[in-house]
Amino acid sequence: MEEKAVEKKTAISHALSVHRRAAKLLHKINPRYFPVLTLHALVAALTPYLAVFFSAQILKELALMRRPEILWKWVAAGVLCTGAFAVLKALLYQRSETLTDDLYGRKEILFAQKMFSMDYADMDKQENHDLRSQIGQNENWASWGLMRTPDLYENGLQSMIGILSGVALTVSLFTSPVPQTAGRLVILNSPLFILALAAVLVLVSLFAGACNVRVIAYWGSAAGEATFGNRLFGFFGFIGLKKDRGTDIRMYNQQNLINAYWDKNMAFGAGGSIAKKARGPLGIFQGLGTGITAAITGFVYVFTCLKAWAGAFDVGSVTRYVGAVTAMAGSVYELTNLFGFLRTNAEYLDTTFEFLDIPNAMYQGSLTTEKRSDRQYEVEFRNVSFRYPGSKLWALKDVSLRFQIGRRLAIVGENGSGKTTFIKLLCRLYDPHEGQILLNGIDIRKYNYRDYMDIFSVVFQDFQLLSQPLGSNVAGSTVYDEERVRRALLDAGFGERLETLPDGLNTQLYKDFTEDGVEISGGEAQKIAIARALYKDAPFIILDEPTAALDPIAEAEIYSKFDGIAGDKTAIYISHRLSSCKFCDEIAVFHEGRIIQRGTHDELVADESGKYHELWTAQAQYYTEQSIEE
Ligand code: ADP
Repeated sequence: MEEKAVEKKTAISHALSVHRRAAKLLHKINPRYFPVLTLHALVAALTPYLAVFFSAQILKELALMRRPEILWKWVAAGVLCTGAFAVLKALLYQRSETLTDDLYGRKEILFAQKMFSMDYADMDKQENHDLRSQIGQNENWASWGLMRTPDLYENGLQSMIGILSGVALTVSLFTSPVPQTAGRLVILNSPLFILALAAVLVLVSLFAGACNVRVIAYWGSAAGEATFGNRLFGFFGFIGLKKDRGTDIRMYNQQNLINAYWDKNMAFGAGGSIAKKARGPLGIFQGLGTGITAAITGFVYVFTCLKAWAGAFDVGSVTRYVGAVTAMAGSVYELTNLFGFLRTNAEYLDTTFEFLDIPNAMYQGSLTTEKRSDRQYEVEFRNVSFRYPGSKLWALKDVSLRFQIGRRLAIVGENGSGKTTFIKLLCRLYDPHEGQILLNGIDIRKYNYRDYMDIFSVVFQDFQLLSQPLGSNVAGSTVYDEERVRRALLDAGFGERLETLPDGLNTQLYKDFTEDGVEISGGEAQKIAIARALYKDAPFIILDEPTAALDPIAEAEIYSKFDGIAGDKTAIYISHRLSSCKFCDEIAVFHEGRIIQRGTHDELVADESGKYHELWTAQAQYYTEQSIEE
């Protein structure tokens, strides 16, 4: 029992502190938001009491005093005040709505920034992807999470102001005594009676609130189904518009599979699990909560009317008390609700902060790589071994290799032999589990990461261009040296195509954002990606099979041309087409995460028992002698 109480207390104090943190975060994103919400809550809370107060005064004048000169003043003041409050409330509401939209967008940027700045190894983990999509789903499902916080703040504030104003307006309901001449009704003066009434009011409001807390908890318990339902909707709802799925859907009638799966798993449908909850316990508790609140009003009517009947106060005050107590009971009910929401939303906020708090665990050194004009950057792998997180297999095992400055190294091997992993470690997207990678004799972990990345230009297999102008894509910036961008595109073999583009370097790539965008082929995209690497002009240039969309001859052409373009840079080429790598100074053959052979093409092909010879002869069967020999 005691434990439960402690748990409850912790849950509430945790809920409060996690919401305080969320509010601080949102306030930092947009400092104008909470002040506007506060004002809106204040005005919205006072509005009903204002109406109650003025109608009571007017009624009093009408029924008792009957002084026209005062009456019209009350009417004018009432109209002016309630009118001014209504206008102010509407203005503040508009303002808070626009600020909410603004905050929505900015909060998304916050998540995007988190993803940009995360260690690559964390970004690569499925669990972090799940966490991020979970946050999105919770928000879609019923705005759970960060954006619930302002709502709860505003409602909480409004309820508290409401309760205080209600108390101020009703103190005299309890303190005005029934005259002694009122007979048995004098009992209404007893402090016990007053205390009992106040207790009933509070208890009933609390009970109604507790019913609603159950309702909220039911909503919370449906989160799993709702999240899955949203995920399903996100995936299947738009699948018909996905360009890369269009052909398969039409060819293999995939819509049948999709429809069947969707039908069976409709979380939000009338037969779905959420609807079942809504028809059952959810509905009962919601009904109970509302019914009890209505009962309070009746209760207050009886008490107030009895006192007025006995002569404790006039008819105007009856209106005031009934109005004020009813509004106050509503506020108590809201406040109890709020605790339910706070506790449920705290769980969603925990997920949000679990994501936002993912630490940047990768050690960051402070050494600079110094900008060397002689490009004398020497990188060495020394007995490096690496396993992907959660995998038992070594993706690289005991790899040692020193890059010769200014030379061409080819890395070849079958799929899955560790070539890309080797490049990822070289770029320090992951750190080795064993061994070291050294730059000019110093462990690369000791360098400033940004500085270290600056010495590499990599074209990855799965390179990505953005739906942005061509020039910006190549330069990685909206401000760039046009001549250098043009040169890079020419060197990458994109020159002819550039001539045909309507706006030259300003041509928008792809049609995501504008109809005028240009769709480019896979091969053209690869050339742009290569131009981007050239523009960066880093001392190391690495091509990780970026030419996969090209035919073998075009690939061989690019690679041999690249030899000239790369100039004094240290270049590393990865390809599973051995013919493309013949021109390199050295070839390293990867197999099951190890380097098993090294040498020139001629040396390696001569070793008939070696892997290279095996791969070479296997590939030779696919091409005519002519294409292999260029
Ligand atoms: P290659 O580039 O030679 O085709 P990779 O370096 O991509 O090979 O892969 C080497 C091994 O590491 C393979 O067994 C592959 O399945 C595994 N691997 C690659 N990427 C990941 C990853 N992100 N998580 C787990 N295992 C991976």
